[in-house]
Amino acid sequence: MFHPHAQLADIGGEVGLALVASRPIPAGTVMWALCDFDIILDRHVVADLSPPYREILDRYAFISPDGDCILQWDLARFGNHSCDAVLHSVGFDVEIAVRDIAAGEQITTEYGNLNRDFHFACACGARNCRTHIRHDDSLHFGHVWDEQVAQVLPLYRGVDQPLAAVLARRPHALDVLEGRRPPPPSRSMYCPASRLPDLSPPPEAGPGRIPAPPSARSRYSVTMPLQSLDIV
Ligand SMILES: [Zn+2]
Repeated sequence: MFHPHAQLADIGGEVGLALVASRPIPAGTVMWALCDFDIILDRHVVADLSPPYREILDRYAFISPDGDCILQWDLARFGNHSCDAVLHSVGFDVEIAVRDIAAGEQITTEYGNLNRDFHFACACGARNCRTHIRHDDSLHFGHVWDEQVAQVLPLYRGVDQPLAAVLARRPHALDVLEGRRPPPPSRSMYCPASRLPDLSPPPEAGPGRIPAPPSARSRYSVTMPLQSLDIV
């Protein structure tokens, strides 16, 4: 479940739809936690799905370290990537804001830890842009993301947490957030390629296909900070 003070907006340009904050959100706020409505599919189940379903997973799902496919049921699925992401994982399927988020600001996440087998050119515009995002980025850059998380964890208790009721059902994550255990390193959430589900639809897919997804650049890139915004 995603933080309630986020909305989906068409911010134009090559990005199109994006998650934006509808009001200021302080660093240390839990922004997403896996919940009972999210769909978790074993990779063997995914292999038996027909093309329209696999295309949806290919566009929106991320992969657990065990190779399970996770489809978020709400706005969380629309988060765009940034190499200077606003959200990072504390482990146990919970993400936290690693800096303050202004009203109207795009809420970005880090695709390098989604365990997807993509390799795409990034146009996020961040000063630390890696220019290419790869499946195994968490093994090379995860220590940087881990440091960002460690710096904001002490803020958790001091800010409003609208997802508290969801977190109550994720005791391991709560242990991290409340300082009883350290967060697992990002590299520990890596799923090797041999365990990744095959999300590519068969080439002969015919009637019933959903429209082709936009290009990798538009799917996974973000624009500069918003100056004005029409919330949809
Ligand atoms: Zn980038």
